[in-house]
Order: sequence, then C-alpha cells, then structure tokens
Amino acid sequence: MRSLRSAIRFSLASEYSIDMSSKTKPIVIVAGLGDTGALIATRLARTCQVIGISTRPALLSGQELGNRLTEPDDWRKTYLVPYRRFRKLDAAEVIHGRIASVDLDAKNVTIESADGAQRSQRYDYLVIATGASNGFWRNDHVEDLAKVETDLIAVNAEIGAASTIAVIGGGATGISVADNLAKAGGADVHLFHSGSKPLPGYHPKVRSWIGRVLTADGVIIHPDHRAIVPEGFTGDRLTHEPVSWSTGQSEFAADVTIWAVGGVRPHSGFLPSPMLDDEGFILVDDNLRIPGHPEVYAVGDVAASDPLRSSARNWGYRVVVANLKTTIAGKSKKLETYSAPEYRWGSLLGMQSDGLTVVQPNGKRFRIPRWIAKPLLLNVFVERVLYGGLRSR
Ligand SMILES: Cc1cc2nc3c(=O)[nH]c(=O)nc-3n(C[C@H](O)[C@H](O)[C@H](O)COP(=O)(O)OP(=O)(O)OC[C@H]3O[C@@H](n4cnc5c(N)ncnc54)[C@H](O)[C@@H]3O)c2cc1C
Repeated sequence: MRSLRSAIRFSLASEYSIDMSSKTKPIVIVAGLGDTGALIATRLARTCQVIGISTRPALLSGQELGNRLTEPDDWRKTYLVPYRRFRKLDAAEVIHGRIASVDLDAKNVTIESADGAQRSQRYDYLVIATGASNGFWRNDHVEDLAKVETDLIAVNAEIGAASTIAVIGGGATGISVADNLAKAGGADVHLFHSGSKPLPGYHPKVRSWIGRVLTADGVIIHPDHRAIVPEGFTGDRLTHEPVSWSTGQSEFAADVTIWAVGGVRPHSGFLPSPMLDDEGFILVDDNLRIPGHPEVYAVGDVAASDPLRSSARNWGYRVVVANLKTTIAGKSKKLETYSAPEYRWGSLLGMQSDGLTVVQPNGKRFRIPRWIAKPLLLNVFVERVLYGGLRSR
C-alpha cells in the first residue's frame, strides 16, 4: 500500500513549481506519449515548450489487457483517451508521427509526421519514452483513432467467437487475459506457461496466490509448457493454428491463441547503438539520464533502468520531471535517483466485480472495493491527479 499512498501524496504536492516567467522556455521533446510520456508532458507543458511526438492522436495504454478484452467500454474510459481531452496538454504541441532519428551532438531530432512530412527539431532536453512492443496490444504503429478502434473491435470479435482459447505466457498480461476471459464465460480458457508457477518476477507468495485464483475462476492451467514460436512471428496477432511445445507435450488446438510470451522489443532504433544494451534497451544512469548526455532522459519500458525495467509503474516519470525542473531552474539541489523494488507489483487482474486487488513487492496484497475503486481510483486519482483533468469530449 505504501507505494500507492506515497504516489498519491507526491502527485498532489506542488513541489515541482518553477518560475519561468522571466526566461525563455526551454524546448523539451517528449518522444512517445504512452503511459509514461503523457504524464511527463502534462507536468512540463506550462513551464517548458513541450513538443510531444506520438504515434497516435490518443493515449492508448497497454495496461489491463484482460479488462480491454472483456469490458472494452469501461476500459476505454481510462485507457484510450484522445490527447485533446487532456487539459494539461493544451499548452503543448502534439505531433502525430514518430521520431525517426536523433543527433545527440547537435541536439536535434528528425520527426516523421503521420501525413508523411519530415521535420527537423532542435531541443534543449529530450525525454525518450517510446516503450516496447510485446503483442498486438502494444506496438509502435503510426495510426489514427479509426484504425485503433477497428483493431480493438476486430480482436474482441475474434475472441468472442471462440469456444476454446489458448493463452500462451504466464506473465502479468497472460494472467490478466486468461482470468478475465474465463470469468466472462463463453469459452474454455487454457493458460500455458513455461515454469512451474506463473508470474516470474513477482513475490513467491503472489505466485502461489494467483495459481489458486486462476483455478477458482475456471482457468485450465498448463505449467511447464514452452511454446515453439513460429519462425519470424512476434506475437502481434491472434493465431488459429495448433501450438507445438519444445517441452515435449502434444500439440494443442484452440479456436484462438493469444500470445503473451513477453518477447519484448524496445522502440529504440532511432538511437546510436552505443546508447543501448545488448537487447536494445536504452542505458541510463541513476537519474534516468543517458550517460554522457545529461540533457537526454529515457524512462518506461524502453529504459534499462533496473533488471525488471519497471520505471513506468515505479513512478520513473516523477524522477524525470523533478530532475528536469531542478536542472532548468538552475538549482544546485541534488538530482532525484530512481530505485525499484526487487519484485514486481501492481494490479494483475484489473477492476473486478469485487474491486481492484493490488499485489505488493513484499508479497502482501490489498483490495479496494469496486464501489470506491471506480470513483476514487479511476475517476479521481487516475483522471484528475495522474492525468491532471480530462475534458468530457
Ligand atoms: C502510473 C502507472 C501505473 C502502472 N501500473 C501497472 C500495474 O498495476 N500493473 C502492470 O502490469 N503495469 C503497470 N504499469 C506499467 C505498464 O504495464 C507498462 O510498463 C507501461 O504501459 C509502459 O509505459 P511506457 O510509457 O514505457 O510505454 P507505452 O505506454 O507503450 O508508450 C510508448 C509510446 O511510444 C510510442 N512510440 C514508439 N516508437 C516511437 C517513436 N519512434 N516515436 C514516437 N513515439 C513512439 C508507442 O507507439 C507508444 O504509444 C503502470 C504504469 C504507470 C505509468
């Protein structure tokens, strides 16, 4: 509970205020306006000249995939939000497109807009929060809202028509999908994972608990199954062919297979390779800056910030915002350092009929009842405090 409580306290505090009235506002480019980049841009837009570069004209969150498949309308309210609804982005320029290259010495980026135009843009500070691809729900496609909606509806229809569903992968996404689909009824849901227990990276107590929950909710669990991923396939679509296993079991045929195998591919190809680790994630120091380039930050799933690369959920955006504000204000204050707990934490199953259960790094968990979680957590905390206020349309 401490992580969430301290986050609320921190977000409500106004310690970030700096006076830029007498100075020219520095140009801050935020590359990627996903879960992390959007939070950073909203907090800097008034004091800096923020240019946000986004592959879509809306925040399309990769969070809570289970809810997205079973309660899409509720999910959309919090996790698919056009940027024009963010009051705190009014002062920012949001470019629909992608960052194509960065010249770190010249402090310049090349931006490819969705309409095909190219633009070169100088920056004083650059924040890279371009995330990573790991399935059909999280990618770097440049697309408009109509395409996002068409894909959402198509995937949900394909899953809705299935009577047997295979979910491959025992991480947080696979768990969330399998459990929510099983609870929704309408299909037999089989969860395949390669270890003896699901949820690697979570506290052992959480891993035992989730097994009991999945079984109680009707998920048929198949441990010790390592799927053979078809050559060249990245898990970016549903499949319908039988799945084979390198662990020796017989093939499994489902109407639909959802791949959540965590084959994460960082969106970092626009950076020179010395800035990246062996897997392509961006190397950062304790202050979330690229070594040798103190004006460039990387945060979220693309940043090699800790072994679990968990700076998105562990409030890495606060570190970046605080450090940028300290630096821009020319204060001699020590910069904030980022640290992450040993184990993952967060909501695994999303909002359920009895509320929202959050598992903690120490293996404990707490549940916020639905009657309070929906208005207080989603409407007040996420929409007002985290997003900084949303217009109704
Ligand atoms: C407050 C908070 C709470 C969280 N709670 C949980 C939780 O309870 N449970 C849980 O499992 N996880 C949680 N998470 C974490 C979440 O699962 C992911 O880690 C998070 O979605 C990753 O965010 P990101 O900004 O790094 O990437 P994304 O949200 O994927 O955003 C990256 C964006 O950059 C775009 N992009 C890619 N390439 C380019 C380019 N070249 N130019 C411009 N844009 C580009 C992408 O298309 C995408 O829109 C939480 C995250 C946050 C912020």
